[in-house]
Amino acid sequence: MKIAVLKETHPGETRVPLVPATAEKLVKLGAELLVEAETGAGCRFTDDHYSAVGARIETSRETLLREADIILRLRKPPLEEVALMRQGAIHVSYLDPFNELELVDALQQAGVSAISLEMIPRSTIAQKMDVLSSQANLGGYISVILGISEMQKILPMMTTPAGTIKPAKVFIIGVGVAGLQAIATAKRLGARVEAFDTRPVVEEQVKSLGAKFVKIDLGETGQTKDGYATQLTPEQVQLQKEGMAKACAQADLVITTAQLFGRKAPRLVDQAMISQMRPGSVIVDMAVESGGNVEGSVLDEVVEIAGVKIIGWGNLPGKVALTASEMYSANLGNFITHFWDKDTQQFQLNLEDDIIKGALITHQGALFSEMYKNIMKK
Ligand code: NAD
Repeated sequence: MKIAVLKETHPGETRVPLVPATAEKLVKLGAELLVEAETGAGCRFTDDHYSAVGARIETSRETLLREADIILRLRKPPLEEVALMRQGAIHVSYLDPFNELELVDALQQAGVSAISLEMIPRSTIAQKMDVLSSQANLGGYISVILGISEMQKILPMMTTPAGTIKPAKVFIIGVGVAGLQAIATAKRLGARVEAFDTRPVVEEQVKSLGAKFVKIDLGETGQTKDGYATQLTPEQVQLQKEGMAKACAQADLVITTAQLFGRKAPRLVDQAMISQMRPGSVIVDMAVESGGNVEGSVLDEVVEIAGVKIIGWGNLPGKVALTASEMYSANLGNFITHFWDKDTQQFQLNLEDDIIKGALITHQGALFSEMYKNIMKK
């Protein structure tokens, strides 16, 4: 079975889909592994690193697209490449299927079986292939580091002969995978940390990391069976803003990570709240790529509003590209291994499996994932 790995072409993307260590694992499974030349360049892996573990280096992307039974990459495929893929080929990557309707349609028409890694269920068995978690975890870490780099203060308390330095205050909005890692990182660096999430189950997790949970009574809030937050009413958003205003005003660093699965991120910090913050404070809007939690944040820029710096860097895991690539690559490797039949040395696209049921968006010329179809109907 031919597995092709394609070099990332998205401007500024330095993460690589497959590192040599995972390439070796796939070769050992019995796959014929074809790697596009310079695939590892963003993380300083050379073509020799891949050939040394048994992969074949291929310079023609067209050949790879036409020959592959399985195509692995990180970002979604460019629309113009879909027609080059074989009918029946399996394509595995991020797909952003809720926003990329034309691309999904093209994959469907081409008879490609497209796996969207974002749609892998958040189940125990699928954790090892969960790219949302592996990348959000690193994003949460780096958000604290980037926030600190724009601050004029340090995080920890220090007792010095010149006097005692008070610890900085960090407020985290949204406590999923990224938020938990941001709390843990800020705590490790000595900050006093507060956090809020609309899912009440999170309170215990916040406390277990030594942070304070900000309590806001929003009435009924919920989560889906996969643990995703449900959308608040406009009245609840207003209550939330009022409840968070004090924590924001007192914070030296605010990190927002709130996301709604398949929808635009909620707008939670407005200009009025920003104007109540101390000049010199910093906000990191981790949701900037999906619409932004913070009014005025700009993708890939640091803007200043009322003396408050708002960081809107996209692709945060890409700021630690090597670690992020190792994690993403391990997720991909685990996905392939999980469905690999050792006897036949073939990848089995098991349509009865819950992971495939969630993540397989197009198959044999039709839409497949019921979860995807249901969300698109709404
Ligand atoms: P996410 O990226 O979808 O959202 C980030 C956080 O924003 C969530 O905690 C969400 O509740 C929160 N949020 C949404 N609206 C908000 C608002 N108005 N104010 C404040 N916070 C708001 O979340 P995620 O990190 O992808 O995690 C989603 C779920 O999946 C969680 O329940 C998590 O525990 C679960 N999960 C399970 C597994 C597993 O079992 N394999 C792995 C990873 C995550």
